[in-house]
Amino acid sequence: MDKKRIFIKVEGIVQGVGFRPFVYNLAKSKNLCGWVNNNSEGVYIDIEGNERNLDSFISELKTNPPPLSKIKNIIIEEKSLCSFISFDIKESVKDDSKITLISPDIATCNDCINDISDPNNRRYRYPFTNCTNCGPRFSIIKSIPYDRDKTTMSKFPMCNECSYEYTDPSNRRFHAQPNACFECGPKLFICDNLGNNISINIDKLLWVQNSLKEGKIFAIKGLSGFHLVCDAKNTDTINLLRKRKNRPHKPFAVMAKNIETVRTYCKLNAKEEEILTGIKKPILLLNRNDSYNLPDNLAPNQKTLGVMLPYTPLHKMLLSDDVDILVMTSANIHGHPLEYTNEHALKNLSSLVDYFVFHNRDIYIPVDDSVSKVFENEERLIRRARGYVPEPLVYDNVKPILACGSNMKNTFCISKENFLFLSQHNGDLENIETIEHYKNNINHFSSIFGFNPQYVACDLHPDYASTIFGSNLNLPVIMVQHHHAHIVSCMVENNINSKVIGIAFDGTGYGTDNKIWGGEFFICSLKNFDRAAHLEYVKMPGGEKAIEEPWRMGISYIYNSIIQNKEYENVNVINTLVKNKFKPIFTEYTDFIINMIEKEINSPETSSIGRFLDAVSAIIGVRHTITYEGQAAIELENIIDTTCKEAYPYEIVFNVNEKESKYIIKLSKTISMLLIDKLNNIPHGLMAAKIHNTIIDFTTNLCVLLRRDTNINAIVLSGGVFQNSYLLEQISHQLKKLSFDVYTHKKFPPNDGGIALGQIVIANENID
Ligand code: ZN
Ligand code: ZN
Ligand code: FE
Repeated sequence: MDKKRIFIKVEGIVQGVGFRPFVYNLAKSKNLCGWVNNNSEGVYIDIEGNERNLDSFISELKTNPPPLSKIKNIIIEEKSLCSFISFDIKESVKDDSKITLISPDIATCNDCINDISDPNNRRYRYPFTNCTNCGPRFSIIKSIPYDRDKTTMSKFPMCNECSYEYTDPSNRRFHAQPNACFECGPKLFICDNLGNNISINIDKLLWVQNSLKEGKIFAIKGLSGFHLVCDAKNTDTINLLRKRKNRPHKPFAVMAKNIETVRTYCKLNAKEEEILTGIKKPILLLNRNDSYNLPDNLAPNQKTLGVMLPYTPLHKMLLSDDVDILVMTSANIHGHPLEYTNEHALKNLSSLVDYFVFHNRDIYIPVDDSVSKVFENEERLIRRARGYVPEPLVYDNVKPILACGSNMKNTFCISKENFLFLSQHNGDLENIETIEHYKNNINHFSSIFGFNPQYVACDLHPDYASTIFGSNLNLPVIMVQHHHAHIVSCMVENNINSKVIGIAFDGTGYGTDNKIWGGEFFICSLKNFDRAAHLEYVKMPGGEKAIEEPWRMGISYIYNSIIQNKEYENVNVINTLVKNKFKPIFTEYTDFIINMIEKEINSPETSSIGRFLDAVSAIIGVRHTITYEGQAAIELENIIDTTCKEAYPYEIVFNVNEKESKYIIKLSKTISMLLIDKLNNIPHGLMAAKIHNTIIDFTTNLCVLLRRDTNINAIVLSGGVFQNSYLLEQISHQLKKLSFDVYTHKKFPPNDGGIALGQIVIANENID
């Protein structure tokens, strides 16, 4: 058999994921000689030996690489023989100009779970057990290359046994940078809410379990941030947590002991099970089953529950047969960023909790839990963070741009070489703390990826903190319309670069006419857009106030309907209604609101479909004021009677006044008929269904019109309102029935968490 020597370049996420020992062991098993190293481009392998063995080496490399690695490219070239005599792992080589891909933080693997569950293992019940296949990565890395001394593990010198594992290529912990044990690694400690250390005679985590069972509330430091934790079956404790956290209604996510526990409360299909038990372990939104019996105040007025499974050894040990489901919510003060240092957590959370579970492994960069759901048998991210970030998207020929993102649910995006890196969820940029957190994260991304922006992309909204930040960087700025960014973010992840019909159903976004958009039909490309249709403008009495108080939108829509339907036969009925029947909406402030609308006092115009759903929710009587974003529309969706196929009337009118948009969707008749249903005491679920069906109806009809006008058959759905499962499912279903190609979000959120991705691509297209 002939001998041969080849040189292999492997690009992708191949560092810090056990790639070199994998190559080492594979080469040894095939009797091949040479070397492997890490460098800025990935991994190089110089290898020679029997040709058949080399072939099988390459095929194993391609088909069976380490679980956490992500190979983007393999380049192979043949070289002349040089008679290696062994196979070696060589030191890392670093080239500052090249990017190094970094693995996200990964949930504890099964081998490590076995280690901590085995009384004979030296890591039995050790809460920081990890290996090359699992554990902290992105959240502990201070700088690159990824070596222990550049992580927050640098302060823990390895004991002899750990060092031995670390240096033995056949060991699962070979070059596992956060490798640790009881002897040498991080430790837990427990404090009361004043920071006094509590000494405990029994196993610390058993004590925590017992206290949770008694109804105590904890702040527990996890993999990439703190959680607020309590028993999810205890109504009183949940109430107390809600009161302390000033969070009356927003659903809490839970962590369940195992998949069987999940199954007692929720419906589960194979895909959902795969995601729950996978290596990323996001919070997965699941439909409740018939035997669901958790307290009402856990996730009020929802049909779903956000569930995750334990993803660290500490979590694994927290959940027991007694307390098999825990509230696990991000630990922060209302509206502030996730807490991640012991010092700040103690200072900021002491009024929320009874006890703290701290540890001394520092988190360098906080990362929230990710949130996703399954639709059409595919995972759909709603919040992209732990487990997913900083995995890049490959995009060719992109210039160095910083896309600053939106204000709410902010993420930013950077581009380098042929990668786009979307940051983790940074929260709402509405206070100094969050804005600081945002700037820190931009600096961190710039440093670990050696990124130097030459252009900035910003949202058109002049008051967004992200826009103000980006505009002050002294770089050329490309302003991007919010909904164009939404549509392009969805085009990018679906690999589309032709013209599409883009439907952006959203809450808020600044339009090119300085009005607030959000019910938009675009004919658009990656570079620009034409506004083809939109919801008729209505006033938002009080501006931002109308978002928090949907009853204001209710009045505005009814007012609009009465004005437009002056000759409409039902106008008297409606007038009576307005005067007598609508106490819940038509408070003593009704005249005041109508005055604002008529005199145009602080009443910007909006075409937002989110505001329309808010108005309907208030008119029906589902929700008049909200305590978390989107609440009125979400609660409206949750009461839909899905057996109802009826819809209300509406009008699509050809637009003669505005030259920029061809069609206007008018909903004044819709609102009139809704009011009549309300007068006739039609069940809420039916009205909710009819309203949603109306949206589905006019959307499909408009798509047919626009296809007739343009010959475009590709439809792209984006915007926060597409988190509404009923609308997403029905609109996509109806359009497919009409043979449209329908594209939706999977890897990136339809909400403002995806905006930066669209911004960067639009900017890239518009730079000469
Ligand atoms: Zn492991
Ligand atoms: Zn050790
Ligand atoms: Fe948006």
